[in-house]
This record gives sequence, structure tokens and C-alpha cells, in this order.
Amino acid sequence: MSEERLFSVDEERLIDEAFQHLLDTYVQSVHRKKTDIITKAFNFARNAHNGIRRHSGEPYIMHPLAVAQIVCSEMGLGSTSICSALLHDVVEDTDYTIEDIKNVFGPKIAQIVDGLTKIAGGIFGEKASAQAENFKKLLLTMNDDIRVILIKIADRLHNMRTLESMQPRKQYKIAGETLYLYAPLAYRLGLNKIKSELEDLSFKFEHPVEFQEIQDKLSFSQSEINEMYRKFTGPIIQKLDSMGIRYSIKGRLKSPYSIWKKMTRNSLTFEEIYDILAVRIIFDPETPDKEKSECFDIYLALTSLYKSHPDRLRDWITRPRANGYQALHSTFMSNEGRWVEVQIRSRRMDEIAEQGIAAHWKYKDAGHDYEDDETELGHWLETIKEILEDPQPDSMDFLDSIKLNLYSSEIFIFTPKGELRTMPQGSTVLDFAFTIHTFMGTNCIGAKVNHKLEAINYELKSGDQVEVLTAKSQKISPDWLEFATTAKARAKIKQWLRKNNRESEKFGEALFHEFVMNEKLDVNQQKMDRLCALHGMEDRGALMVAIGQKKVVLGEAERDLLKGSGRSWYKRFWTSFYKNGSSDSKKEAQAEPVTPDVKNKLIISDLESHVYSFATCCNPVPGDAVLGFVEEGGHITIHKRKCDTATKLKASNGNRILQVEWNIGNSIFAAGIYLKGLDSIGTLGKVTDVISKKMNVNMTRLLIESKEGVFEGTINVMVHSLDDLKAIQEGLKKIPGITTVVRKEE
Ligand code: MN
Repeated sequence: MSEERLFSVDEERLIDEAFQHLLDTYVQSVHRKKTDIITKAFNFARNAHNGIRRHSGEPYIMHPLAVAQIVCSEMGLGSTSICSALLHDVVEDTDYTIEDIKNVFGPKIAQIVDGLTKIAGGIFGEKASAQAENFKKLLLTMNDDIRVILIKIADRLHNMRTLESMQPRKQYKIAGETLYLYAPLAYRLGLNKIKSELEDLSFKFEHPVEFQEIQDKLSFSQSEINEMYRKFTGPIIQKLDSMGIRYSIKGRLKSPYSIWKKMTRNSLTFEEIYDILAVRIIFDPETPDKEKSECFDIYLALTSLYKSHPDRLRDWITRPRANGYQALHSTFMSNEGRWVEVQIRSRRMDEIAEQGIAAHWKYKDAGHDYEDDETELGHWLETIKEILEDPQPDSMDFLDSIKLNLYSSEIFIFTPKGELRTMPQGSTVLDFAFTIHTFMGTNCIGAKVNHKLEAINYELKSGDQVEVLTAKSQKISPDWLEFATTAKARAKIKQWLRKNNRESEKFGEALFHEFVMNEKLDVNQQKMDRLCALHGMEDRGALMVAIGQKKVVLGEAERDLLKGSGRSWYKRFWTSFYKNGSSDSKKEAQAEPVTPDVKNKLIISDLESHVYSFATCCNPVPGDAVLGFVEEGGHITIHKRKCDTATKLKASNGNRILQVEWNIGNSIFAAGIYLKGLDSIGTLGKVTDVISKKMNVNMTRLLIESKEGVFEGTINVMVHSLDDLKAIQEGLKKIPGITTVVRKEE
């Protein structure tokens, strides 16, 4: 390469050294030695980024070099990944195209670089839906080649390590995104060490004061901790040596982020956190098949030295975590009277814990394909794939269901045959049924949990043995979504409901057609609209679904409306109600035909009325699409058209539904707003600002909950109309960090 160098001699030397370090690390790894192609990729990237600098001022190529270094030494990946990491910003930032990469490096590397280029933008777009879209893209590329995600995480890790040089505004966004998405992804892929570092770095930028306080206290107590470690491990070293075990032992401090999380979650002070020190014993088993038993041998040896905490033994040896993590965790009382956590694992388990899925491959046969992997991780990837293959209309919903499966801790469930399945905490009988088979899920009527009969919404506990019970007659209903918590089950239920709706719609159309033919009716758009309004349906499709599902039964009222004779029962009812002040005079009314008048439509002009009142199930606000229901005795209740209760009433008493219109002046209504966003300093203040100062609206209740850097909450406000409510929502949406603002529908 004879290209002219544009950096200083010192800088060029720095670049050469960084590359040499990368090569040295690679050559010492277990991979086949393909240094030629790595050198070629390095030179290609170096020329492409020649003369370009990062925000920090250093030559740009230092970034791809650092990412490649992480990919190699911290993830244990091979030459294909190293080359892709070196080239990852070439297409995004320079004039080279994917075709160029393909011509020089072949299709595999080009495909990975292409995947990385596609997800180059931030995951959090301006809009929530764009964010979900990007996230989906990210997961889709994971199915092409999981190395795309691994390199993306390495890229993010280096950006976080050098976040200092970014503008504070960008720091915030990147740190939030890291905590929200990349740390959980790293965790899910078993990259435990990287997950921890990502969390700590995000924590440092989002809560600098708290981070510094914890750091200071950790370094202040360093000598004390060292002393504690020395005293505690002394007898252990003696014991293990005498047993002839080959091992290494080291102390590990709890990470600042996890200390902070524990402090805030349990309202503890730093001093009250007892397990700041953990001791890790990593051993080389005598033979591979003795790996598990040696773990327990070491544990037993320790119990002869120290008292162990009965509730704190975690056996991830016989039941690995879903991300592949294996180890034996236990807590022992030191002679000074402090609890110390001890983690016991073999060299192989340790590498998997540090490097995740990448290390998995190392211990599998060459040419192993992760998609055939029988591990839980393989199952998880399979689930993601299934969800992705079923395009869902609501992308935010999709995002939530994926997130649900990223971080949740696991429980262990046994099949009747004694097979073990890992499920997220909070899983129900229904969730479990869907993991066994889609048929089991869609036809599930309950289960025998430890030989006792339980309903489909029964929440499972770790260790439960579950036999799913099915019946062919069983049908999925929309409320099943409340009983299903896993992404897979929810996706399947929604898929089924959509398909079923399409079938109902077809059936409804057929019934409607038959009705029109038999009654010799003549249908036009106007009449159709009125028919929809009568049943509170948004459009023809919704009406046909309701007819198909027998929620709307075609009869006298519909015939009258379509004929346009105005002889519908509800009009007569309404008129007789006003004439007689009672609804008991049905017969009289029927005997006396009535001409249409304005009374068949209820106009709401007053919020305090003896004639009607507002349903408390859906709290309609002026401007909402509403309908009236004539109760026994003649009183009218106003429901939102979307309201579930109203839907049921329409189904059972369709002829007692009234059309309603708003005509309201200055009155005040209660309404709820649901909010979601990144938890950052000042966000809440801005929320209350928008509502009380800018909009001058009364806030009656505020409920906010914050978890993992994301907050969620409900605000109750008093508004004059739907327009007011919409204006508040628009105002809230403009606050940076807020991702979701929706009207609360209950
Ligand atoms: Mn990059």
C-alpha cells in the first residue's frame, strides 16, 4: 500500500501499534491463522478512512481497530468477524459500496458489513414506531448472521468507552439507548462481562454524581476489602491445594451499577449492601466428564470451612440459564461475620460466561450452525424468528413483546415426562402450552399443575410439573392476551385472532348478503353508514365481523333502517318514552307508527342530566365516538363506541342502542393519559410543566414508575374536550425522551 499518509508520524505509529496488538491477540487465539485477510481488511479500511478524525480528534481508523480488538479478545470471534469489524464503517462513511467489499473480501464479509450498515443509525428514532422499526431491523439481521449483532455490540461498547468526546445531548441519547437495548441484548447473548460494562458506562453518564459517590466509596474501602479477601480465601486455597485441584481464584467487586440498583430498589445505603465482594473459583477439571461433579466437590469442601447461607445456593450447573450461563453460586459467612458470595465454575463455563455465544461455538464441532443448536438460546432465536415472520400491524406492541423476553429472569418447568423447559418469570399455563406446541396453546383449557387442576391464567412457579389439557372445542378469545405473557404466545394468539376475524368477516358478508336478498332490500353507502352507526362500528369490515361472530343479529331494526321506512323499534321506543315518561308502553308504541324525528338521536348539551349519564367503565369525553344505551326503566347510559361493555350490550340488546351527538359548551371532564419514556433528569418536571403551566389544565393524579432506566405512568387530568386532551398529548410528545403518549382507555 503506497497511499499517502495524512496523519502525523506519531499518529501513524499509534495506528501501526494498535494493528500489531490486534494481530498478536488473534494469533494467540484458537482460530485458524488467517492473518493475510485481516491485514488486507485493515489496509483497506485505513485507506478508506485516511485523513478522517473522530470527535475526539484521533484518526478515525482507531475506532474500527478498537472494535476489531473487542471482537477478537473480548468475544473470542474469528477472522470473518475481525475483518467485518475493521470494515464496519467503510460503506456508511466513505465512497466505497457493498459491491466493492464483496469484490475484495467475498460475499460473507460483505453480507455482515451490509447488515451493520443497515442498522448504522440510532435505534431510537424521532418517533416510537421508527424505533421499533429499527429494532426489528436489528433482530432481522441477527437471523441472517448473529455476528452482525455481536459486532454491533462491540461497536457500541467502544462508543460508550469513548463517549466523553461526544456532545452532552448525544451522550444522553446514546447512554439511554445502551441501557434500554444493548445491555439486555448482551445479557441475552450471554456476554455477561460486556453487559456489566455497558450498564456501568450508561450509569456513569446518566447519573454522574451517584456513580462518583459509589466509585469513591469502593476505592475508599479497597484496603478493607483486600484484607477481607485475603483472610477469607486463605483457608480455601489450603483446602483446594490439598485436594490436588487445578484452579485459579480471584476476588470480584460488585459493579457500581448493580450496587446502585440494589440501593435504590431496596432503599439501602452503600454500607448496608453485604455482598460487595464475590470470590470466583475457576478450575480445570481432571477430565471433561468430571466437570459437574468437581463443582460440587469444591462446594462441599467449602462447607467444611464456612457456614453457607441455606437460601442462597444457586445451581446453574444442572439447569443452565437460558443464555447458556453455568456456575454454582453460594454465599458463605466469613470468620469476620460477613456474607461473601462464592462462584464456582470450570474454565469452559467461565469462558462461556465472559464471551457468551461466541465461546459456545468454540466448544462445538467445527462448522456448527447455531440455528440447529439444541440449547435454550437456539429456542430463543427460533422464537424471535417466528415473531418476525409474522408481520404485526402494531410495531410498538412488537417491541414490547421482544423486550419482555430479553431481560426477564427464568423459572424451570417440567413436562409430565420430566423434561425441563425454561420459561420467563410470570409465565402462565397458557404460555407453557404454546411453548410445547401451537395446537396445545390454541386448544388449551387448563392444566394439571403438580396433579392439581388449574386454569389457563394460572401463574407457574419454578419446579412445577405441568400437564397441558386441551379440547378441540376450545376457541381463542381476545381476553387470552391478558393471560399470555411470553412473546411467542402473544404473537400466536394475535395471529389467530386476525385470521379468525378475516373468516368472521367473510361469514358476516355472506349472512348479510342473504339477509338483503331475502328481505329484498336495497343497500347504498349512506344506508351502510347508518347501519354502522347504529351498532357503533367504525366501518363495514368491523360490522361484518360482528355479524359473522353473531354479536350483531340482523333483524327488524336493520331491515327498517335499510328500507329507510324509519319504523325501527328504537325510534318508537324513544318516542314513547318521551310521550309517556315510561318504557313500559311497548305495545302501545307498536300499535302507533311514528314518523322519524330528531328524537331518535340523542343530543348531549348538558353534562348534568336526569335523562342520561356517562358510563364509568369508559368515561367518554366530548368528541369521543359514543353511543347511548337505554337501560331498563328508560335511563340512558353513554358509552364510548370502543368500550367492551358497550360491545356486549350491542350484541345482546342491539335494538336499545341510540345514536348520540355532542353539543357541549364549557364543561369539564376527567381523562387519563398513559406515558412512557427514558428516565432522565428533568423529564418529569417537563411533563408537569406542559400540563399545568402551558396548557393550564388541572392534574388530579400522577402515577409514575421507573425501572431499568425507563419510566411508565399515568396522569389524570381535567379537560374541556377531546381537542384539549389531544393538545396535551401533542405537548407531551414533544418532550425529549418521551416515547409513548396515549389516552388511557379504561
Ligand atoms: Mn462504528
